[in-house]
Amino acid sequence: MLEVYSITDLRLGIESLKEARGVRLGLVPTMGNLHDGHLYLVEQSIKSGLITAVSIFVNPIQFDNAQDLSNYPRTLKEDLNKLKAIGCDLVFIPSAKEMYPNGMQDITQIVPASISSELEGAFRPGHFNGMATVVCKLFNLFLPEVAFFGQKDFQQLAIVKQMVADLNIPVKIQSVPTQRSEQGLALSSRNSLLNAQEQSLALHLYESLSYIAQNLVDYQKSGATLEMQEKRLNKLGFEVEYLQIREANTFEMPKIGDENLVVLVAARLGAVRLIDNLPITLKVVSL
Ligand code: AMP
Repeated sequence: MLEVYSITDLRLGIESLKEARGVRLGLVPTMGNLHDGHLYLVEQSIKSGLITAVSIFVNPIQFDNAQDLSNYPRTLKEDLNKLKAIGCDLVFIPSAKEMYPNGMQDITQIVPASISSELEGAFRPGHFNGMATVVCKLFNLFLPEVAFFGQKDFQQLAIVKQMVADLNIPVKIQSVPTQRSEQGLALSSRNSLLNAQEQSLALHLYESLSYIAQNLVDYQKSGATLEMQEKRLNKLGFEVEYLQIREANTFEMPKIGDENLVVLVAARLGAVRLIDNLPITLKVVSL
C-alpha cells in the first residue's frame, strides 16, 4: 500500500498504479479513526475491481466547533494497519498546510444548494460548505471514476450527489448502506468518545428510529410519533437536536404522494453528538 503525504506524491502514485493495473480508480474520503463502516466502503471499492484509494484528513473548515475538532479521535497507525490488511492500494494523509497552503480564511468555497441549510446545516453552520469544498478538492486531486459515501451521513451524501450533478464533476457517487453494531448502533468514530454507560444508552437512538420506521403507517400521525420518541430520548439523557421525517431525495417536508421517506436524528449524549437515519416505507396520503 502506498502511503503518500503530499499532492505531488499522490499524483505520481495514482499515475503509477493506473499504468500498472490499467483500471479505474475508486476513492473513499474519510477523516480517519477507521472502523468497520469505513472498511466496508473500502471493501466495496476493492470488490468492484477498482484501484482503491483512501484519504484520511480531518478537515478543519468543516468543523463549526474548535473543541470538536481538537477532540476528534486520531489513530493513524491503526488506520494504516487496517487499510493494509484489507488490500487498499493507496492512502493519502495530507496536512492542513498541504490542503490549504494559503490558509483557510479567504479561499474559494463550494456553497451547496439549499438542502445544506436544513437539519445538520441548521445546527452546524458552515459545516456543509467546508465538507463540499474538501470533497471537491479531493475529487480534483484524485480524479476518481467512482467515489464511495456512506448512507450514515445521509444529508452529506445527497449534497455530494447534487454538487457532482450541478458542477458536472465526472465521478460516479456510490452510496453504501450504514454499518451497525450487532445491537444496531451505527458505527461512528465518535462512538469511541462515549463512556461505557453512554455506549449502552446510545442504542436507544436506533431503537427510536426503528420504532418510527416500523410503526408509522399513517403520515398524518407522524407529529405525535416523533414527539413521543423525542421525549423518550430526552428523558433517557439525550439532548435531541432534531428528529424529523423528510423526503429522502429533496430533504423537503413530505408532500402527498411521496413514498421515499427517511427519518433522521441528531442528538447529544454528554459531550458527543451522534447522528443516524433510517428509510421509511410509507406513502403519504394526507398531511
Ligand atoms: P467520516 O470519516 O466520518 O468522514 O466518514 C467517511 C465516510 O464513511 C463517509 O462517507 C461516511 O458516511 C462513511 N461512514 C461512516 N460511518 C459509517 C457507517 N457506520 N456505515 C457506512 N458508512 C459509514
